[in-house]
This record gives sequence, structure tokens and C-alpha cells, in this order.
Amino acid sequence: MRKTKIVCTIGPSTNSFEKIVELLRAGMNVARLNMSHGDLTSHQETLNLVKRAREYMKLPCAIMVDTCGPELRIGTFKDHRVELKKGDKFIFTVEDVVGDSGVVSCPYPALLKVLKVNQKIYANNGLLEFVVKEITKREFICRVSVGGVLSDHKSISIPHIRLPLPYVSEKDDKNIEFAVRNDVEYISASFVSNKSDLDALKRTIKKYGGRQEIIAKIESLEGINNLDTIIDACDGIMVARGDMGTEIAIEQIPAVQKNMIAHCIAHAKKVIVATEMLESMTTQRRPTRAETTDVAQAIYDKSGATMLSGETASGCYPIESCDTMAKIALATEKMVSYDDEFLCNYTSVNKSLSAIAYSACASSRAVGAKAILCFSDKGKTADAISRFRPKADIVAVTHDSYTFNRLALTWGVTPVLANEQKTQEEMLALASTVAKNLKLAKTGDKIIVTLGLPIALKGTTNAIHILEVE
Ligand code: PGA
Ligand code: MN
Repeated sequence: MRKTKIVCTIGPSTNSFEKIVELLRAGMNVARLNMSHGDLTSHQETLNLVKRAREYMKLPCAIMVDTCGPELRIGTFKDHRVELKKGDKFIFTVEDVVGDSGVVSCPYPALLKVLKVNQKIYANNGLLEFVVKEITKREFICRVSVGGVLSDHKSISIPHIRLPLPYVSEKDDKNIEFAVRNDVEYISASFVSNKSDLDALKRTIKKYGGRQEIIAKIESLEGINNLDTIIDACDGIMVARGDMGTEIAIEQIPAVQKNMIAHCIAHAKKVIVATEMLESMTTQRRPTRAETTDVAQAIYDKSGATMLSGETASGCYPIESCDTMAKIALATEKMVSYDDEFLCNYTSVNKSLSAIAYSACASSRAVGAKAILCFSDKGKTADAISRFRPKADIVAVTHDSYTFNRLALTWGVTPVLANEQKTQEEMLALASTVAKNLKLAKTGDKIIVTLGLPIALKGTTNAIHILEVE
């Protein structure tokens, strides 16, 4: 079974029941709704489709609502797009104007106070570059230093400045309310730069009564610098290479990515590598060799998941992209010696849950067990086992459909929905049946089973069985 999970962004290329079913068949584990595009009515329709498709397929699939974050977006153009050439003069104004090749609206007056002459401004994930030449009361006048196409509502990034914006904007407040109302499993938080951003987000989730896990998207220099405190305060991070690529030198990205994956694994947090992984597949059926190797590298480093953005949202080959990513993952995982590299990191195994999880992995390695089955209400045991990246497949048996879908993002875990078991004997018998049904073990093979005793006591995994499959 594939261990690395795949996040697919849903958009115009895939927001139909049929396409979402095809994506699930191709290996999608998480459906991401990007709030920076589209409105809440269309997101509601897409979300309903994902829920219907995952039930129809009886497959676990987590839903991830991706916030806009404190980002700066320009207004619109008369012809929806303009082509700018190097050397052109171009004005960003706080006035509400319809743009053309000389001006566009950028409605953030507070920005004028923090901008400086000669500051660089990027658009289109860094493809376009401007230099600020003059700042007036209502506008900043720039010179185009790298030309290209600029279209409606594109975001702009201004490296190394702290934006004068609250972390949770009015729009994101509504997006979070939407995520909570629909009881989605994950919120991916754009442009997290420090712990207080996450505190503000948690307050908003709490205000609406939500239980979402938070994936902090690291995409600014400040976010990179505050990695440790951010990791402590969230459930996982996304290596958001798109925007990050305009904030730091492009050649630093590989090292930052490797470091982030290692940190997340060491701290038992989820990690997703994102953006441009199979970019050329937005227009071509086959990826470049370099992209193939990029996906593989994330898998060698044991990233929890890899992500598709434009490839599945607006590309010409969304299903092929997901299928290709799944194939690269499967082929690469065969080459990783998970158990030889089994993390003997006793120092951070300091809680009973991680001790049990560690022991389950150590036992599976010692007896050559093909699978670790855990009975898990909320999925915390499965998360804890996953973090050690064992060779054995992890199966999480749960009676809770929220947990079932949430665990779709957890590395190495196959969630299974089953009725609640009353006795220890019933649980062990079910473990054998599940392992056989999933073709993970045959009669006589060993599997590891974790459970909580006494059974009536919920939320405590405290026992490990080494079981011979009947
Ligand atoms: P985005 O985030 O796709 O929401 O911009 C990912 C990234 O910036 O890499
Ligand atoms: Mn981004």
C-alpha cells in the first residue's frame, strides 16, 4: 500500500462528481479547496460533491479548506489581463479603479506606510517583478523589472515586510466559519509567520465550535525563521514552495524543504510538500524527468504527503497527474529502507502514547510483522505510530467516520471503518480479518495490534499484542 499521501486541489478541471470519483480512484487522499479562488457558493457545491463521492466510493478522503491568509490581491483589468514589458511604468493605487496597462487597484492604504523606495514587488509566484520608485498618498509607482502577463485578482508579494494586516481577515473569518459548519477535517492556513497567527486562527475555530486540525503553510521568510515555534503550535505544516520561492532565494528551497520535513518527523507533526511538483502536466500528459525526481525526493525524505495544485485544479490532465504522482510514490517507496532507518529517537519518546507507538514499530520490525493494526477512536494512536515511519503498513480501525476521513492524510495509515467492538477477543478477531481482507497478511503471518484496556475506557492505548493471523 502507498504510504505517502496525495493532496489534490479541486478546481474547474475537477469539480464534478465524475472527476472527483476518478481522482479518488487515481489515489487522491485529501481534497483541497483553495479559498483564494471562487466564492463560498461554488466551494459549498464542490465540498458536497467530495462528500458524496467519498461515500459512494467508500474511501476515506479528508477535506482541507485553504485560507487566503493576509495576502495582497490586486483588482481587475478592463480586459482581465495586461502584458507588461521590462522598463514600463506601472502604478498600484488604493483607489477602486478598473485597471489597464498603466495602473491597477491595490486597496491596502496601510501598505503605503511600510513600503520603501527600491523595494521589490513580485506577482504571479515571482514571474513578474516590479521595483518601487515613488510612494504618494494614494499610490506606489513602480518600474517593471521583469515583464509578463498580469491578470485579475492576482496576489502580489513583498518580501521581508510585515504586512499591516490582521492574520484572520474578515474574508477568512467567513472561510473558517464555512470550514467549521461543514465539519471538514483540515484547515490549511496561508502565510503563517509566527505562533500568534496560529493563536488567532485557533480562537476563530473555537468561536465557531470547530475541531479542525491546522496545517500551517510556511511561505514567508518570517515563517521559516519561526519554524520551531510554529511546529509546536500546529498539527502539521505545508512546505508552500510557490510563495516561498519569491521570499527566499530559489536555490535555498531544497534545503529548507529537507529541513522542514525532518523537523516535522522529529516532532511528530504532519508535513506536506507543495507546489509545482508536476507543473508541466497542466498542459502535457507526461511530466518532465526533473519533476518526477522532485516528487521522488520528497518521498525519500519521508514527507507525509505531496500536493498537486494547478495540475488538478485547472490543468488539462488532472487524473493523469494524480495517477502519475501515485505511481512515482509507490515505485520510490520500494527503494526506501524504512525499518533500517527506523528512528531510534528515544529523547522525544516521552509520553505513554509515543512509547506505545514506538514499541509497536519496534515489535513489528523485530518479528517481521507486515501490519500494525490500531484500534483508535480519534486516530491519535495512528498518528503517533505514523511518525516513526515504519515499514509495516499501519491500519487504523475506527468506528468514527470523522476519524476515518481525517486519517486519510496520515502517512502510511489505511483507515478502516468498523462497528465498535465489545471485547478484546472480538477486537483481535477483527484485526486478523481486516489484515487478511486488505491482503496485508495470510494465516500464520504476524501482525501487531494496539488497543486500550479495559475497552470501556476510551482514548487510552496501553496494550500491544503480537498476533498470529488465524
Ligand atoms: P497556494 O499555497 O497554492 O495556496 O498559494 C501553496 C504555495 O504557495 O506553495
Ligand atoms: Mn501560497
